[in-house]
Parts: sequence; structure tokens; C-alpha cells
Amino acid sequence: MDATAPTPKPAAIEIVALTKRYAQGRPAVDGIDLRIASGSYCCLLGPSGCGKSTTLRMIAGHESVTSGDVLLDHRNITDLPAAARGTAMMFQSFALFPHLSALDNVAFSLRMKGVGRAERQRRAGALLDRVAMGHLAGRKPAELSGGQQQRVALARALITEPRVLLLDEPLSALDPFLRIQMRAELRRWQKDLGLTFIHVTHSQEEAMALADTMVVMNHGRIEQVGSPHEVYNRPASEFVARFMGGHNVIQTPEGPVGVRTDHVRIAPLGQSLPEGMPQLSAEVTDVEYQGTYVLLGLRQAGTPRSASATAEYSVMVPEDAFAARPHALGDAVRLYWAPERAHPLRSPAPEAVAA
Ligand code: ADP
Repeated sequence: MDATAPTPKPAAIEIVALTKRYAQGRPAVDGIDLRIASGSYCCLLGPSGCGKSTTLRMIAGHESVTSGDVLLDHRNITDLPAAARGTAMMFQSFALFPHLSALDNVAFSLRMKGVGRAERQRRAGALLDRVAMGHLAGRKPAELSGGQQQRVALARALITEPRVLLLDEPLSALDPFLRIQMRAELRRWQKDLGLTFIHVTHSQEEAMALADTMVVMNHGRIEQVGSPHEVYNRPASEFVARFMGGHNVIQTPEGPVGVRTDHVRIAPLGQSLPEGMPQLSAEVTDVEYQGTYVLLGLRQAGTPRSASATAEYSVMVPEDAFAARPHALGDAVRLYWAPERAHPLRSPAPEAVAA
């Protein structure tokens, strides 16, 4: 690593009542408030169209703000041009210029700023050294592996000495194997550089693997902010429980609750169950072998086949337990769970259901 390469100081981002309205109707980003700690890895997560990229682009200055503010370390940057904000963007599949060498890709923005050739090559070379790519500085992107291209893209973003790095689905165009390798590398670089990273993804798995803080968005609003552990174990709403996966949403007289699929137990009908366990009757509709566990699909007893998804449950049974007591399609069973495993969920707002 080259000690002469600049190490910018990380910054916190604060978003206040940020709104983006492209047209009439529901805003793409609807008055969100968010604080992202300096030096943390934040993932904006949610289904396609929920407003993640628009939020990121407003932080970057690539999209105008309808109302609200973006602050970087208490400085209001809402109306500053992208290049003056202290942020830099890394795009999907890295978006390197194919006709330029790694060195010229990294030096590109300095060329735009009018920095002299010798100086920009020195600074670009130092950054490529820093990401362990100095020896391949003369290669074009097509002559580099996916991992090497990612490091060049990182160096190209870092050349402007950003205090916050913004990443817009940087891994989504890669094949699954490379994506897992690259995300481990991104995480390492974030820790090593100590910068604030804000990473947009629609993949729960990617966000869980990378984030210190996950921000789950839906319909332009924030559903939940928390560590991956908090969000997975205490989903705040039906939407988060369903979107994160691995949860059953069970309607109870007190309102909907979430119970993890590995926390629901299954017993043949007629078997006596432990005292004080909430329970329901169901029929096995699907048996999927998954290796270390078997995933059972179930339908609540008495609900017709075409009933809404709220009557569908999943139970994850460890392979050994399933082998000891297998269940087959059509079996009538009882599902039960320890009361402390059930977490109350916020129901969707009426306008979200209508959308
Ligand atoms: P995500 O990144 O979560 O997939 P986006 O932020 O790209 O979502 O989009 C949020 C909403 O704003 C979507 O309904 C999308 O169609 C709309 N949108 C995004 N960009 C534009 C644009 N340039 N003009 C009009 N509508 C847009």
C-alpha cells in the first residue's frame, strides 16, 4: 500500500424530509429522514421502484431535490454541484471506459479538472498501488478480471478524495459466484479505507452480508432502519418480514405477528403439544429438500387453495429431524411456536395497500 495516496476523512450523512416528485401522484421519495454514521457501511434496500436509486442520486447531486435537505457533516450540500459535495459514485458493473487503460480510467476526472498529465498519472498510480493494481496500470478493462475491474472502479471513485462513497447496485451485473467474492472485497475496502459507504441493492442477502446499517424502503418511504441482526430478528412491519424472507406472517386476534420459519415447530395432528404454545392447524402443500434442512410449505386448515398469501406458511425442519419424523404432501399437522418467538408487525398503511 502506498502511504502517499490520500486518505480522506469519512463523513456522516443526514437526510431531512427528502422528497422527489417526478410527476403527479405519489412521490418517488416521500419525505424521508435518515442519519448515516461516519465511517459506516449503509445499505439502502428494497424492491425495484421503491426509490433507492433516486435517494442515492439526490445525495450524489445527480438528481435535483423537490424538497428537503442533504447534509454532509452538518454542511448543507443540497444545492451544491456533484463535484463539490465530497461524495463519489461507483456505478453498476463499474462502468469503466473500455478504450482507456486502468491508469487513464483512474486519472480521468483529474484530466477533466485540468490537472497536468504528470501529476494526474502520479496520483492515479498511487491509488492503483493502494488497491493492489499498480502492476496492471497499463491494461484495458477487457484485459482485467471482474475483481480487478472493481478495484480500478474503486480507485477511480477515490481519486476525487470523497468522504462518502456511493455505490449504485455495483454487483448486480456479475454472476453469483463473482458477486459473493466482490462483496467480501468491498467490505474489506470499506473497513480498510474507513470511509462512509452508501450502497444501493435490491438483494436482502447482499445487504445482510455488507451493512452495518440497513435501510429498508418501500413506496418511497423508510420501513425500517437497523443492523442486519435487528432487521432480520425484529422486522417492524409485514412488508419487512415478507421482503426479508425467512418469516411467517401470522394473523392473530391481537394483529399480525412474525415468526421465523426455523422457529415454527410442526407436529402430527393429535399429538399433545407443550403448554402455552400458540398454534394453528395446517396442511402440508410442499416439501423441498434443501440439504441441511427441509422446507415445508403449508396452508392453514380450512382456507381454499386460491386464498391470499396470508394463509401460506413455511417451516424449516433440520434434515435429521425430518428424517426422524417425515411429513408428506397432504399431511394434516399442527404448527406451534414459543410466544417469545412471535414479534408484533405493523400492518401496511391503507394507501400503501391501494398503490
Ligand atoms: P429503485 O432504485 O428503488 O428501483 P428508483 O429510485 O429508480 O427506484 O425509482 C423510484 C420511482 O421513481 C419509480 O417509480 C421510477 O419509475 C420513478 N423514476 C425514477 N427515475 C425517474 C425519472 N428520471 N423520471 C420519472 N420517473 C422516474
